Amino acid sequence: MCGIIGINSDQNITSEIIHGLTALQHRGQDSAGIVTFDGNFKIKKGAGQVSSVFQNVNLNKLKGNSGLGHVRYATVGSTEEIDAQPFAVNYPFGLAMVHNGNVINFNSLRKKLNEEHKRLIDTSNDVELILYTFAANLEKKDLKDISVKSIFDTVETVQRSVKGAYSVLTLIANQGFLAFTDPYGIRPLIMAKKETENGVTYAFASETSVFDYLGYEVIRDLEAGEAVFIDQNNKVHSRILKHTKPSFCVFEYIYFAREDSIFHNHLVASERVKMGKMLAKNLNKSGIKPDIIIDVPNSAYFFASGLAEKVGIPYRRGLAKNRFIGRSFITAIQKKREGVVKQKLNPIKDIVKNNKIAVVDDSIVRGTTSRHLVNLLKKYGAKEVYFISASPPIKYPCIYGIDMSVKKEMIAATKNRKQIAELINADTVIYQSLEDLQEIYSELPICDACFSGNYPTGITEDLLEQIEAEKLKSDRV
Ligand code: SF4
Repeated sequence: MCGIIGINSDQNITSEIIHGLTALQHRGQDSAGIVTFDGNFKIKKGAGQVSSVFQNVNLNKLKGNSGLGHVRYATVGSTEEIDAQPFAVNYPFGLAMVHNGNVINFNSLRKKLNEEHKRLIDTSNDVELILYTFAANLEKKDLKDISVKSIFDTVETVQRSVKGAYSVLTLIANQGFLAFTDPYGIRPLIMAKKETENGVTYAFASETSVFDYLGYEVIRDLEAGEAVFIDQNNKVHSRILKHTKPSFCVFEYIYFAREDSIFHNHLVASERVKMGKMLAKNLNKSGIKPDIIIDVPNSAYFFASGLAEKVGIPYRRGLAKNRFIGRSFITAIQKKREGVVKQKLNPIKDIVKNNKIAVVDDSIVRGTTSRHLVNLLKKYGAKEVYFISASPPIKYPCIYGIDMSVKKEMIAATKNRKQIAELINADTVIYQSLEDLQEIYSELPICDACFSGNYPTGITEDLLEQIEAEKLKSDRV
């Protein structure tokens, strides 16, 4: 999972892109980078957070009127600097690219590029595959007089060849600015604009909250399979190319995105309240009567408060959070992840003591965090602890760029609710049901493959095993 931003302007946009990246920092902390264009590409990227990568950097040396930015959470490949985005090639025209998502036919594409196009892929980052596939097909067009149609045809070829989830931004030197999504629109990409003295500046990003910071007006989400090209005269061309059933990642609403972001006209905070209210069904069914409902800060606040409102049980903040520790989910190494949880959350004693507590979290993946929390709450005097997951049981790996570990490490893949409660030491465990989640999104086509196993792109057992093996090879699990 990554965060991307791109701006096409008639003014220097370097600091806007860097500021935009800080608003996307929650989407990845492994590396950060930007590329700008002012006749030449200028790239600065490195391992770590935005503030450390751009500390002591002379921004005058990165000046440009169009540019791209990226924060990376590696799901395929290493977390090292060599895999940091953006990537660029100098032919045809000069192309620079960033992406958010995950390519699932990585090995066959790499082989094809190597054998058919004689291109050597020297990193393990999947954006390189998209970039080279795009370049190899664009160079077949009439480069003396490249048309919008040729660019869209090239994108369509990419969409046919590259399987998986991807939202992509591309600078085509002296030709224009291109944004496109995969045929299913799994990963978000939003277009916005700002009026300037000389006209309109267009921007694209993974979340709308970026545009609030930067003073842009949101235009719309890109649709599944859509490409938008802004030419040298700042004219916007858009076309839906290879399009199949849209399948927007529901986990953006559950966990990944900021609560103030909006996707497809749905505010993330309101979606979480809706899911919290829906949880009331299963809590009532269980017959359990908690004294208070608390959340695992911060992403579960809206679920917990929605549930509390619906069932008429007081909501309390029962866990204090150290705000200076990173999100445990996006911490690369398992040992580090457990350490992060321990340092991050501390029960608020008088709230917890002698109470029957329903603790709401966005999900239960491995059970590590949940077990630690339940034990902490009991240690601080909770009479009973009921663990409530706002999402359905996670049973299948995400192959589209959200790192949820491999199937064998997913607690719900092999255990039932009772066994999970025992393992995490909770008095009971309550999940959102998949049917209830699907009812919430009956109007918005979503991907829910990590709960249902229905991968919108389709997947063979062999490929799934291959993807899991790649993940096990990395230091992610
Ligand atoms: S599998 Fe789950 S996390 Fe992955 S894209 Fe689909 S809904 Fe999102």
